[in-house]
Amino acid sequence: MMKRYGSVEAGGTKFICAVGNENNEIIISEAIPTTTYEETIKKVIVFFEKNRVDALAIGSFGPVDLDISSEQYGCILNTPKQGWTNVNIVLPIQKALNIPIFFTTDVNSSAYGEMHLNGCNNLVYYTIGTGIGGSAIQNGVFIGGIGHPEMGHQLIKKHPLDVNFNGVCPLHGDCLEGLASGPSIEARTGKKGQELEINSTVWDIQAYYIAQAILNTTLVIRPELVIVGGGVMSQHHMLDRIKMHFKKLLNNYVTIEDIDKYIKTPSVENNGSATIGNFLLAKNLLIKN
Ligand code: ADP
Ligand code: ZN
Repeated sequence: MMKRYGSVEAGGTKFICAVGNENNEIIISEAIPTTTYEETIKKVIVFFEKNRVDALAIGSFGPVDLDISSEQYGCILNTPKQGWTNVNIVLPIQKALNIPIFFTTDVNSSAYGEMHLNGCNNLVYYTIGTGIGGSAIQNGVFIGGIGHPEMGHQLIKKHPLDVNFNGVCPLHGDCLEGLASGPSIEARTGKKGQELEINSTVWDIQAYYIAQAILNTTLVIRPELVIVGGGVMSQHHMLDRIKMHFKKLLNNYVTIEDIDKYIKTPSVENNGSATIGNFLLAKNLLIKN
């Protein structure tokens, strides 16, 4: 019998539930608006009761507790999203469906999908959206000891034209997320990223920061490939700007054979790589058990 795998992309605005087959093809999917914790999880359960799967992977907004030995395993931790702090999103689904469930971050799911799609084993994924998330996979395994990586909050140096901007991170002000997330564009210019003119210097400032983050992870981890996704990257000119700054900053210190193959945007539109990643992570549970 062909197995069926489930994916939940648990986001701050919607929970996308999908069922896939052995070839990672989506059989059915549904976007459930993120309302209250109880209502949202109930709808996820109803979807998978109607559309049964053999195993499920959940990639969630965070921060989340991924430590299986922790009492809070499966919980969303101190999120600014009201009503979603310290709620367990694995337990009720597990109880209702009684199937193996893999729980991870949303960006880990995307990274896993991209690893498969690019046929590599060592990859870093950044998502530049409302926040900035990061994931690293080394030899096919997620990096993260007692918690998942928080690369979005790394410190970077200021662009000379941005010294007076304090950044928007509620915890650190001018960390990477504070300086290069979507809301940082709005805080500087009063315009959302999607409304800002293409010739604004802010794009170059943003690209400089993202390039620094890629430089840092290149030097620390030496991945084969870096994927940059998220809403801000739907500005297609950003990829070239980032590569330009990255090349300058790296100054040929380590060899990057082909920068066009090293820094890329996601292979699938609309974060579709997260769905594929989840199908694969769900499949892994059945192989391991
Ligand atoms: P989220 O991070 O909330 O899951 P996104 O990855 O779409 O969702 O990120 C949303 C952020 O990206 C917002 O700050 C938004 O203004 C910005 N954004 C969305 N689309 C664009 C675009 N086309 N150009 C620039 N910024 C964008
Ligand atoms: Zn921060």
